[in-house]
Amino acid sequence: MKIAMIASEVSPFAKTGGLADVIGTLSVALERLGHEVCVIAPAYRCVLQSEFTLGESPIKLSVPVSDRQQEATVLQGTLGNGVLVYLIRADRYFDRESLYGTATGDYPDNAERFVFFCRAALELLRHQPVDVVHCHDWQTALAIVFLKTQTSRYLEMAGAKSVLTLHNLGFQGIFQPHDWHLLNLDAALFTPQFLEFYGNINFLKGALVLADKITTVSPSYAQEIMTAAQGFGLEGVVRPRAADLVGILNGVDYSLWNPWTDPFITPHYGEKSLSLKDECKRRLRRIFKLPDNNHSPVIGMISRLTAQKGFDLVEAIFDLLMQRDVQFVLLGNGEPRFEQFFGAAVTRYADRVGVRIAFDEPLAHQIEAGADLFLMPSLYEPCGLNQMFSLKYGTIPIVRAVGGLKDTVQQCDTDAETGTGFVFELYEAQALLDAIDRSLQVFHNQTAWTALQRRAMAMDFSWERSAKLYANLYRQLVN
Ligand code: ADP
Repeated sequence: MKIAMIASEVSPFAKTGGLADVIGTLSVALERLGHEVCVIAPAYRCVLQSEFTLGESPIKLSVPVSDRQQEATVLQGTLGNGVLVYLIRADRYFDRESLYGTATGDYPDNAERFVFFCRAALELLRHQPVDVVHCHDWQTALAIVFLKTQTSRYLEMAGAKSVLTLHNLGFQGIFQPHDWHLLNLDAALFTPQFLEFYGNINFLKGALVLADKITTVSPSYAQEIMTAAQGFGLEGVVRPRAADLVGILNGVDYSLWNPWTDPFITPHYGEKSLSLKDECKRRLRRIFKLPDNNHSPVIGMISRLTAQKGFDLVEAIFDLLMQRDVQFVLLGNGEPRFEQFFGAAVTRYADRVGVRIAFDEPLAHQIEAGADLFLMPSLYEPCGLNQMFSLKYGTIPIVRAVGGLKDTVQQCDTDAETGTGFVFELYEAQALLDAIDRSLQVFHNQTAWTALQRRAMAMDFSWERSAKLYANLYRQLVN
């Protein structure tokens, strides 16, 4: 099958989170299964200034936005053996410091930027039609809406089927009605059955109604988004689509995340050479200028600093946590209130806490390798990648039983010698602290701890399995 992935991020070209990892790796995994895959993404400044070898496609695009035509060119890169990556170049929209906004907020013209991007992607596909258009999150949702409601404009793609993947329903692309003219859609679509959402325009809602199939990035999250607690107001739109909704767990790119081969860590280690992980821990402590307290476990976190990731709970327990014999390292950036909190925590607990407010890929690998425990107390978690990376590194995850965390980490039972991490249910500070205390108990039992690490490292979340599930889904549609 010919498949086009339309996405606002793709690793390694542009990344702010898990979405980029998924697009980069899933595309290559599908190609390995024998499909013809291309990726369409914006050519942001980080792409323009990167060292990737990019060609320029002869295709020139003229893209309708409101009553204007916007011109664009197309840069071309590759992934894997033959996944073509088309990067839509329109500097007016994408030659900016960040992908979606700055510390002061989203770019005010995000509606226009992503209307343009969706239209540009479809214009490109008119030149080389595909069987399946696979869109991801709100930024690309309109491509499905345009394709389904303006068939005469996209005749070349008349037979194409559409899939929408929800990586995070918390972001929907909601804009004020005065932006409606940008979309060039029939006014009949600005109604509650389609894109209207309490008087505003909701890009994601349009695709939720119109996509042929909808997927989420874990089976549990597919169930959770049908509830008021996690539907972000769209549960009533998702529920009628239940028959077309499926949860497919994200995979891990073990060519990048494997303690045997990881280029960012030394020494390398595996299940049978776990003592070498101690050296990774020493190096990690050195990076964060923490003393070599051999008896103290290091608890790691790598995350966007937002309430979604459970930082309210971490804040609430922090002083109590520091009464335990632990060291804590955090890599992340995001909401100023959390950046300030952890900045202050370093000052208060200088020899116990290390914090790096940044996005730093090598350091992320070094934390995975050097930490003993990995904390993900998320309020909600569509899939989550870091808990799966952690398992592979023998870095035991402490997670809340929600979304993909629930689907990938099983409660440790030392008597039964089962389980791969420490899981708590309620989004409450005490529940988190109890889970940490259980993990510390096992940590100090060397035999039980090593057995737990080995069980964790044996878990396999490679992409091949997930890619096959996506391919089956496409096949159902195409046949
Ligand atoms: P989300 O997409 O919700 O942010 P995921 O767990 O699905 O969360 O994916 C996050 C990805 O981004 C992982 O690959 C993680 O290692 C990476 N990441 C997050 N924050 C940072 C950071 N500050 N520095 C380096 N990598 C980060």
